[in-house]
Amino acid sequence: MLTPVERGGLHLPDCGLWMDARRPKPFAVVSHAHSDHTARHKSFLATPATIEFIRIRLGDAVARRGIPLVYGEVYQHGSLKIQLFPAGHILGSAMVYVETDKGESLLYTGDFKTRPGLAAEAIKVPQADILVMESTFGRPEFVFPSLEVVHEKIISFCRENLREKQIPILLAYSLGKAQEVLKILERGALPIMAHRTIRSFNPIYGQYEFAMPETRPLDFDNMEGQVVVMPPTVRKQIPRKIPPHKIAMVSGWALQESARFRYRTHTVLPLSDHADYPDLLGFVEQVNPRTTYLMHGSTTALAADLRRRGREAWSLIRADQLELL
Ligand SMILES: [Zn+2]
Repeated sequence: MLTPVERGGLHLPDCGLWMDARRPKPFAVVSHAHSDHTARHKSFLATPATIEFIRIRLGDAVARRGIPLVYGEVYQHGSLKIQLFPAGHILGSAMVYVETDKGESLLYTGDFKTRPGLAAEAIKVPQADILVMESTFGRPEFVFPSLEVVHEKIISFCRENLREKQIPILLAYSLGKAQEVLKILERGALPIMAHRTIRSFNPIYGQYEFAMPETRPLDFDNMEGQVVVMPPTVRKQIPRKIPPHKIAMVSGWALQESARFRYRTHTVLPLSDHADYPDLLGFVEQVNPRTTYLMHGSTTALAADLRRRGREAWSLIRADQLELL
């Protein structure tokens, strides 16, 4: 029996398997290298790119405990078969497919995106009996604009501000989102200055056929004429006396009216590395599971929506499990 439980990561108590545990475990599967999905495990299974990112983030000692598994290859863990499928979220991100010796299967998505990106492998969707899906943007109001529109918004924000002698500063998370932004800026042939954490991940992208454009190291004294890309946390280091500039946060939360005020930026550009509401619904149809469990974000609302659509679906968040009683 594969019964998923949320306990600071996904746990399958019947077979003792942990996925994306946030506390160190003797063995865990790590879906991708974002810090809320990794820990200093004694041993862990991940794609080779994820292990390389973990080497940069957590050091060589932790990375050496990683067991590399390429997409599609089978790893036998006791009586369980484990396979990783591209999740389309960031480079190396994986959905975890688990199959028992009785033939029952479970797919855990981790963070995922169904739309093609410029800096991540395209998603590949297997079918499974049980689906555990992240539902960060699981409400009907979350419908992202087309990729063409999003790319155009980012490029024109930069071009217009450069023309008006304003430095465009883009705030983007250093792993994944920032590289997607760099590839979009490359298409617009824009000169780029990037923070060192972003630049530290870029060579790994080159090794996996997603070569990044040339970037100059971030230099607060010489930003004029450049598009500046930095993680949101670096913003507080911007000196008070820099030339005129405009700051944009790059986030799927741009769809919420309040986002601009929450991030305290001039604008929010709607580029996301997650699936939006229609993408989530379409994904469930593709996997065609018997039961769907939801993690993160609007779990209760989306579970109710899916049930109205004739799908058995439940939230894995504790308050919602009362529904099952
Ligand atoms: Zn993530």
